[in-house]
Amino acid sequence: MGGVLPDYIEPLRLAEAGARLGGTLAVGCMPRLASMLIKGAAVDAVCIDFRFGEDGKGHPALTGRVSAALPVACQRCLQAMTIPIDAPVRLRLIRREDEAPAEADVLLVTAEPMSLAHIVEEELLLGMPMAAMHPEADCPVKLPRGANVAKEHPFAALASLQDGGQAKHS
Ligand SMILES: [Zn+2]
Repeated sequence: MGGVLPDYIEPLRLAEAGARLGGTLAVGCMPRLASMLIKGAAVDAVCIDFRFGEDGKGHPALTGRVSAALPVACQRCLQAMTIPIDAPVRLRLIRREDEAPAEADVLLVTAEPMSLAHIVEEELLLGMPMAAMHPEADCPVKLPRGANVAKEHPFAALASLQDGGQAKHS
C-alpha cells in the first residue's frame, strides 16, 4: 500500500467514485497531535487506509483504518514510551450537523475541500489513551496498591478540543 496522498479531499466526491486512499502522512501536518508527543522524538509516519463509498444503508461513508506508533511520556514515570494506535475508522459523511444520526459517528463535510491530515488527526486523537502508561510490571515507578493513577493526566483538555472538531463521535 502506498502512494502520494492529496493534501485536500472532497469526501462526498470520493464516496461517489468509490475511491480508496492509502499511504502515509507526516505527524508534522498534525499540530494538535504533535503537541502531545515527546518533543524532538523521531516519529514514524501515520498510515492510513481509507475507503470512500457507502455504509450499506445508502449513506455516503468513510471506512478504513489509521495506524501510528506515537512517542509519549508515561504518565507514571514520565519516561518515553511508544503507544501503538491501530484504530478503525467508520464515519458517515453528512453535510449538516442536524443530519447527524444518533447511531453513527459522522464526518461533517464542508463545501470547501477538507484537509486530509485534519481528518486523520481527529481519528488519532480519539484513538489515544487518556493517560498513556507502561504496563505496571514494566514501569520503574511502583505505586502503592489502590492508588488512582488515572486521576490526573495532561490529556484532560482533549475532550473539549474534540467538541469543536469536524469528526464527531457519539
Ligand atoms: Zn512508566
